[in-house]
Amino acid sequence: MKLVLIGSPGAGKGTQAKVLSKHFDIAHISTGDLLREETSQKTELGLKIIDIMNSGELVSDEIVETLLANRVKRDDCKKGFILDGYPRNVKQAENLPSIVGEIEKVVLISVEDDLIVERMVGRRGCPKCGQMYHIKYNPPKEDGVCGVCGEALVQRKDDNEETVKNRLSVYHKSTAPIIDYYKNKGLLLEISGVGDIDEISKQLIDALEGAR
Ligand code: ADP
Ligand code: ADP
Ligand code: ZN
Repeated sequence: MKLVLIGSPGAGKGTQAKVLSKHFDIAHISTGDLLREETSQKTELGLKIIDIMNSGELVSDEIVETLLANRVKRDDCKKGFILDGYPRNVKQAENLPSIVGEIEKVVLISVEDDLIVERMVGRRGCPKCGQMYHIKYNPPKEDGVCGVCGEALVQRKDDNEETVKNRLSVYHKSTAPIIDYYKNKGLLLEISGVGDIDEISKQLIDALEGAR
């Protein structure tokens, strides 16, 4: 099963991809995570992209395509994968089949812009196990501590109001056109990303099971 998850920053892609990856036993691939790995290890590539990521602009197609091509070669992708936040523009969408093969379904998680800044600024993540939280909508039991593994939670540098606003405008300008691209191919499935997180997971799983 090869899936694509698209949606504005903060739509809940990472949160839901984690659930879907477990349910369908497929790999969860976030190009944002792959890029952050490069910046945190301060590789040559990481140093080159750090400013772009902090500004909320897109990293070049060539860089993300190379990272993706290497990632899908790993064993955990044999049964399939879910791409979280990829493709981010029409060019990436057009090139995708030549890198990973044909995609079966594209899920758009839609959330209106008004809700996005609050979601992003309140986002916290676990650097050890990847669990995602929100200070108001999905708080950990103990303030600032991961409920799964006990690690101290962190806030991403690009989750500040200014960068989030730019990421949102980049989304509308560059990424939103892929919605029509996939609609025209008959691959698009749209679900609302507003409401209870578990309820949205259920709807997603039902829709995808039905589409199999
Ligand atoms: P994305 O990967 O699309 O940027 P995330 O999954 O990281 O989004 O979610 C962004 C923030 O919003 C996180 O803090 C997450 O806990 C929170 N969140 C996710 N889904 C919901 C929801 N349905 N309602 C409220 N907050 C949510
Ligand atoms: P979110 O899910 O919260 O929108 P991501 O973690 O997916 O954020 O992405 C963080 C940053 O990584 C983006 O703002 C962008 O700079 C870069 N990035 C991630 N995926 C891509 C991609 N497919 N193409 C270009 N840049 C990307
Ligand atoms: Zn953790």
